[in-house]
Amino acid sequence: MRFSKGRNFLFRIPEGRDFVEFINQFAKKNHVLIGTLSAIGTLRNPKVGYFEEDAGEYKVIPLKGTYEVVSLLGNVSIKDGEPFAHIHVALGDSEGRVYGGHLIEGEVFVAEVFIQELLGELLERKPQENGLSLWDEITL
Ligand code: ZN
Repeated sequence: MRFSKGRNFLFRIPEGRDFVEFINQFAKKNHVLIGTLSAIGTLRNPKVGYFEEDAGEYKVIPLKGTYEVVSLLGNVSIKDGEPFAHIHVALGDSEGRVYGGHLIEGEVFVAEVFIQELLGELLERKPQENGLSLWDEITL
């Protein structure tokens, strides 16, 4: 899939908001249909997921306390007719240990976010037999 670059957004999410929910609302409000995102900051009581292939669902890993967002990467595409953010994160604790996975939720203490909008053909997630909602694979 080829896209051209659209708008760039760089902003801070208000303290207390849920990171994932805010990104989805931001994308919807600003009509960002496709894009990539990255962020750094600090999250409280984040929950990350690990997709268990045999079960066909996410195992939820709840983390208690405040974690540094060491790295956060994601993308935005269309799911069920609306912009949907898919986000993965590495979270550091007070000992410098890092936990990570698919970000399910996390309360923002600080979050500095960069979003690169992409313009082109709509990229849509479709439910798969494996339990995930995915884009079509490309053929070469
Ligand atoms: Zn994921």
